Amino acid sequence: MNKRHNMIPIAKPYLTKKEVEAARKVILSGWVAQGPKVQEFEKALAKYVGAKYACAVSNCTTALHLALLAVGVKSGDSVITVSHSFIATANCITYCGAQPVFVDIDLKTFNMSSGELQRCLEQKHKRFKAILVVHQMGMPCDLKGILLLARKYKIPVIEDAACALGSEISLNGKTWKKIGKPHGDIACFSFHPRKLITTGEGGMLTTKHAQYDKIFRLLRHQGMSVSDLARHQSKKIMIEKYPVIGFNYRLTDIQAAIGLEQLKKLPAILRKRRRLARIYQRELKNISWLQCPEQPKYARSNWQSFAVRILKSAPLGRNQLMRYLLKKGISTRPGIMNSHQEKAYARKARAVFSLKNSKLARDSVILLPLFTTMKDQEMKTVIKALKNV
Ligand SMILES: *Cc1c(COP(=O)(O)O)cnc(C)c1O
Repeated sequence: MNKRHNMIPIAKPYLTKKEVEAARKVILSGWVAQGPKVQEFEKALAKYVGAKYACAVSNCTTALHLALLAVGVKSGDSVITVSHSFIATANCITYCGAQPVFVDIDLKTFNMSSGELQRCLEQKHKRFKAILVVHQMGMPCDLKGILLLARKYKIPVIEDAACALGSEISLNGKTWKKIGKPHGDIACFSFHPRKLITTGEGGMLTTKHAQYDKIFRLLRHQGMSVSDLARHQSKKIMIEKYPVIGFNYRLTDIQAAIGLEQLKKLPAILRKRRRLARIYQRELKNISWLQCPEQPKYARSNWQSFAVRILKSAPLGRNQLMRYLLKKGISTRPGIMNSHQEKAYARKARAVFSLKNSKLARDSVILLPLFTTMKDQEMKTVIKALKNV
């Protein structure tokens, strides 16, 4: 018996013939690298989130790298962020030769605590070049509190919105805006298959600052002064210049064509995920040893993941519970890890204060299956298994 076929997966990208057809057209067009489709995808994404500029790159890690370089992060600088994130968040700071300084999270949202950020900033002897916040698993962080502090100390804010496409935030308690509008200085998105929409690999930077957008475009293309598209469309010969050292962080037109189709599906994907999350919240709220995620008043999550905390009173430990669910045909994953607890950061990690919530979250969270094509029957299976523990 092949059990894997009956397993309920943790996540599943929502790709159909539409994406196949879009990619096929680009392949047959003869222009497959960064070109007109990338430009079209950028415009569509900028429009969707309401941002002035959007620049496509090869993935969100490279987007974060360019964002930090654009605000001037250099070797020897310090950047405030969270340890409790996918390790790419810390890695991109390290790529700049800078030092990540970790602050603790709020256990309700798994996002940076603005109180802890304040404590960190009040350490007068230290200058910070940027604040890199994460909207963890699609849940918007306390941007209002964080921006207030950032403006007071005049530090740019970069948002790791890898998981947060379609998530919304209200800074004034009245109107809702999409993450990436942007509210900070730069927001970075991912199109990895574990996020809401995918291009295989892919990323995007949004900003309202023209000068940042210019830097992204220069650096993603080897620091070259003209794009391939501009050269192709030009009637005259064009000799490029290389004013700075850049990278090859380009997205391809094949990926962008897939992204355009995925973007059209995003409103339906969001509706479905929000409905599934409501069902989990309603059905699991009476399990005393399990804590469901809750949206703060200012946040509307896209539910990239549904992360529940297993409390000490649970009849099974976290890992035992994961094994029990696996036997019932249900895939789960541990929650987010902490960079400072990984060997890669054993000697690089620096935290001003304790990271006790980060540690607790790492060891007590599991992610439940949640994906766009999830059936009601599959949802019932997960809920029943949890109720019967
Ligand atoms: C997925 C993810 C990234 C990295 O995105 P890639 O596109 O895979 O490079 C960065 N930060 C967070 C919080 C993520 O979840």
